[in-house]
Amino acid sequence: MAKLGSSELPLRVAVVGAGPAGFYAAELLLRNDIECEVDLFEALPCPYGLVRHGVAPDHPKMRTVINRFDKTGDEENFSYFGNTRLGTDISVDTLREYYDAILISTGSQKPRRLGIPGEELEGSYSAEQFINWYNAHPALELKDFDLSCETAVVVGNGNVALDIARILAHTPEELAKTDMATPIIEKLAASNIKTVYIAGRRGPVQASFTSPEIREFDQLENTAFHINADAMALDAEDQEELEFKDHNHARKFMPVFEGYDGQPSDAKHHIKFRFLRSPVSIEGDGKVEQITLQTNRLSGPAGSRKAKSIGETETISCGLVFSCIGYRGRSIEGIPFDEQWGGIPNVEGRVTVDGKVHTGLYTSGWIKRGPSGVIGTNKVDSKETILKIVEDVETLNVAPNRSSDALREQLVSEGKRPIDFADWKKIDDAEVARAKGDKPREKFLTVEEMLAVLD
Ligand code: NAP
Repeated sequence: MAKLGSSELPLRVAVVGAGPAGFYAAELLLRNDIECEVDLFEALPCPYGLVRHGVAPDHPKMRTVINRFDKTGDEENFSYFGNTRLGTDISVDTLREYYDAILISTGSQKPRRLGIPGEELEGSYSAEQFINWYNAHPALELKDFDLSCETAVVVGNGNVALDIARILAHTPEELAKTDMATPIIEKLAASNIKTVYIAGRRGPVQASFTSPEIREFDQLENTAFHINADAMALDAEDQEELEFKDHNHARKFMPVFEGYDGQPSDAKHHIKFRFLRSPVSIEGDGKVEQITLQTNRLSGPAGSRKAKSIGETETISCGLVFSCIGYRGRSIEGIPFDEQWGGIPNVEGRVTVDGKVHTGLYTSGWIKRGPSGVIGTNKVDSKETILKIVEDVETLNVAPNRSSDALREQLVSEGKRPIDFADWKKIDDAEVARAKGDKPREKFLTVEEMLAVLD
């Protein structure tokens, strides 16, 4: 029998999840020394994952990586199975029949919870719910947001918190140039929100956001910025931490924060940083009316400073709370999952069960390492996994069915509707064609609308 990975017997890999990690993995597999056929499975008709549904619409440059992913989409040994969810439309057992290796790169979409009283109230939402809405995710859980209040509180000090604050402060004219769907721009244009608080449980030095995102706030029209004075009084450990090699972002944005002192009070929008503040409860009669924050002091050595309450609280009247405190992965039937940290247990991309490697099963991206890094981080991460697949090629079980066309026919005969990359490109073209004015595209809001393009 020919060797797996040779031109007579190419290695067949199913990559599950068409976000950045999945596309980088597919690209790296196709550029390897061994011969590969790669099929990319995606639950939605549209590919690109967080690049389409996570990246903020006012960050179009970050979406240009799509051009690179599209080159992979056109490769001869690549095929796309959009609208095909693992666990629902296709099982892990079926994938094992058709592929020698399976790589899971489904990301982390499940929001982490604050776990405080009142989190369930109407008006208290996760970052994921709001981001999916403003990015027109077609499998939306929440189709509308009441933006009639004057104050929103964003909890968390990562880039996601900044994205949400920025979107709430943009003018409709600024949004009109983006790929944000028109009904959503209209809704944001009618918003009454004037003040957005960004509450972080630790200080500015410990914030996870990056300096370009802070500097970008300057471009918001008619917006004033404020910061609580107690947060700017750095102690010796903060000063020491600021000198750390990996704290170059904090070193860059601290001078920006110093400039927030004395900003105009008559601005249309206000963004107010409240550092050293942790939410303890959200209150209201059926819906959010206020949030109570405890005031913290930091303790512990530089590099691992912890927030501790000083026994004081403050209350902010608000109608919306967005918690932006990170994500977890979602488990998939038939794939090992660590409930504690919310990802797939693995060693350098090889999936493990009770510490033992699960032959032929791999992972990359956020579901492998947790929700961290920028889009390009997933290339490095996927590379590590692909090297393991190449190392393992001789130990893999050769799948009995070796035709992607046969799998597609099987899915269709089961009443499923897998779409290929050419189908996706027709949907993509239709979105671009229906855009008006300066908009680069007018996104479809539902899966039905996308599939109707193909009918
Ligand atoms: P993140 O960077 O991990 O930030 C999470 C924030 O939540 C931290 O400030 C954390 O504070 C806070 N937090 C966690 N648990 C909390 C709790 N119980 N109460 C209060 N605060 C809590 O996560 P993210 O903002 O979701 O971003 C995920 C990844 O996507 C990051 O790598 C980010 O850089 C990336 N991203 C990048 C961009 C961009 O490049 N423009 C845009 C969006 C996202 P502690 O530090 O105290 O734990």
